[in-house]
Amino acid sequence: MKTLFKNAIILQLDLPKGYFKGDVVVEDDKIIFVDKRYNGSYDKKINVNGNILSPGFINTHTHSPMSILRSVKDEVNLQSWLFDNIFPMEQQLTYDDVYYGTILSICEYLKAGITSIQEYYFYEDAILKALDDCSYRATLSLGFLTEKDKTEKYLEKQFCAIEKSPLIRPVCTFHSMYLIDKKQIVDLMNFAHKNGLPVSTHLSETKKENLDSIKEHGKTPTEYLEELKYFDNPSNSYHCVHLSNNDLKIFKKHKASITTCPSSNLKLGSGIPNVFKFLKKGINVAIGTDGPASNNNLDMFKEMFLTATLSKSLSNCKNNISPNEILKMATINGAKAMYYEKIGEIKVGNYADLILIDTNSPHMQPKTNILSNLVYSAKSSDVYLTMINGKILYNKGKFFLPFNVKDIYKKVNAIRKRISI
Ligand SMILES: [Zn+2]
Repeated sequence: MKTLFKNAIILQLDLPKGYFKGDVVVEDDKIIFVDKRYNGSYDKKINVNGNILSPGFINTHTHSPMSILRSVKDEVNLQSWLFDNIFPMEQQLTYDDVYYGTILSICEYLKAGITSIQEYYFYEDAILKALDDCSYRATLSLGFLTEKDKTEKYLEKQFCAIEKSPLIRPVCTFHSMYLIDKKQIVDLMNFAHKNGLPVSTHLSETKKENLDSIKEHGKTPTEYLEELKYFDNPSNSYHCVHLSNNDLKIFKKHKASITTCPSSNLKLGSGIPNVFKFLKKGINVAIGTDGPASNNNLDMFKEMFLTATLSKSLSNCKNNISPNEILKMATINGAKAMYYEKIGEIKVGNYADLILIDTNSPHMQPKTNILSNLVYSAKSSDVYLTMINGKILYNKGKFFLPFNVKDIYKKVNAIRKRISI
């Protein structure tokens, strides 16, 4: 099956302008042509009419099933939100709840042009089934590891299950250094090392986490995890709001990635990371939404806008991250952080994870600065088509999933009515 995208503004961020006008051809799951004009054969033609053809956005930190917990205690800080509210509610969730919560989030990702995620939550087998059922691309955590019984045998079992999924890759994730004991972290890092897998965790999200770590270990969380060989694997660390200069040296030395989650950090009062400084040091920075309960959207346009504007507000507009750089964070840098090759760029040989963005709205005029429009003006509702691995999963308000979306809304509302704090 060959699909021709005709007459598009094609986002290619390595070009001086960041885009050019032309055609793209997708055959089965891959991009096979990217140039000014295609004159060959095709099975299906999509006339893009001068709208934007972009690589799908890569959301490098999320907890999809938390869509069920959206708008729970929106007014408290991270510690109170997590320990007094979210954890007691999570204990009541079942395999089916996690499955339907994940499906709801997949609908939100598709509508917002997010084509791959790095996912971390419990009932991983329910999440894996939801991702597979929707043909959605992800890296998925192996083992939640908050319970003592999650052993190497359990990790092996999860690893084998993920290996069977064509679009899902494993990542060894533990929640954080403050929830998981030293032996469990070391065991997980050994498993990652043995199997050549990437690792990830929440890191230095709050000042309290840093102060507790210094009190207990005499080191910052980053220094402590370096000692536990976390950084010996390709890593993606979430939040990193409170990093010291020495922490940054550790990230640089190990070529470690950071995922910034601006909405979540603002909502939970965790602080504002100095993303401009991370980029200046040459560290790979990607963007994540975090879970839909701490955001409360799964919307990369909102996160791009906040990443750009928070950096400016921290520095009286001196530390300006260019729209090109912001868009790279949401695409190319995301692929690198997830350790997932052949996504994040529109180029021949890459997987066809593509989105179309409508530019025929008042807020997208004039069209003189396309990249700025995308970062500062565009909304997720401007996305009108989302393709993953060559398959159109969303087009002009319609989902192409094995579910009726309204049934999913009913299921999730019924789950939420059943659970309480
Ligand atoms: Zn998180």
